[in-house]
Amino acid sequence: MAIQWITGTLRNRKVWSDGLFTLTIHCPGVLEFEPGQFLQVGLPLPEKHLHRPYSVASPHGDDLEFFIVRVENGELTPKLWDLEIGQEIDVSEKATGGFTLSHTPRAKVLWLLGTGTGLAPYIAMLRDPKIWDTYERIVLVHGVRFLADLAYTDELERYSKAYDGRLIFVPVVSRALAAHGFQGRITQAIESGKLEQIAGERICPETSAVMMCGNPQMLDDVEQLLNDRGMRKHRRNEPGHYVVERYW
Ligand SMILES: Cc1cc2nc3c(=O)[nH]c(=O)nc-3n(C[C@H](O)[C@H](O)[C@H](O)COP(=O)(O)OP(=O)(O)OC[C@H]3O[C@@H](n4cnc5c(N)ncnc54)[C@H](O)[C@@H]3O)c2cc1C
Repeated sequence: MAIQWITGTLRNRKVWSDGLFTLTIHCPGVLEFEPGQFLQVGLPLPEKHLHRPYSVASPHGDDLEFFIVRVENGELTPKLWDLEIGQEIDVSEKATGGFTLSHTPRAKVLWLLGTGTGLAPYIAMLRDPKIWDTYERIVLVHGVRFLADLAYTDELERYSKAYDGRLIFVPVVSRALAAHGFQGRITQAIESGKLEQIAGERICPETSAVMMCGNPQMLDDVEQLLNDRGMRKHRRNEPGHYVVERYW
């Protein structure tokens, strides 16, 4: 089915580090969606309409946020990086995708694992009351290469305080020393037992639901680790323990 486009306007552009940025697009008319779903974002070029899917990093509203990384030699992202405030940008009217709390199992602890811009869907979820009403504790693990890539930390630390420690934020930084959190990769943080030590919770079928999003290698490796612990992918007709969103 042809995508219905809404012409939005770039309201704000926040740069976290070189090539890592958040665009806030004013695009009233996007249909109601659930945090974790994605929209198509794109530009009408003379030769074609160039668009890609992006998780919305904010709940439904007239202004929507997208957390994006500029991919070297990428077709669209260098053009998105160059956009200036006030310029027009197309957003699809209808969101899609099942990486949402409705499709995630209930448990005591919700583990949110994301690399790079795989943080985006979790920001949208944390800004919505549902996650706080559903899970006792939330452990958000953000894997990045450099400290400067740790976006949204002020907001995350605010939630940790506001919700009385129910959110545990664990930065995992592979190429620099993390002041708190873990130095290395998410898989190493799990394998070494350090992540569970920091969180004070176990990743196990009895208490945990896991969402993971971002780099395909991390997803494959973590899936394997979870399977080894007796956890299974959650499916509509076959309840399990974890759900996955692949960006590429
Ligand atoms: C459901 C879904 C949600 C997505 N949400 C986001 C999002 O919130 N933020 C975001 O930045 N991207 C997101 N993506 C990826 C996005 O759709 C594009 O693939 C990406 O922006 C590259 O577009 P491009 O035209 O510049 O690169 P292309 O010319 O299409 O090149 C694609 C290549 O870029 C690399 N790549 C793609 N995405 C990333 C990434 N996030 N980080 C590092 N390398 C990448 C991969 O090597 C991929 O093969 C999402 C993808 C899917 C399927």
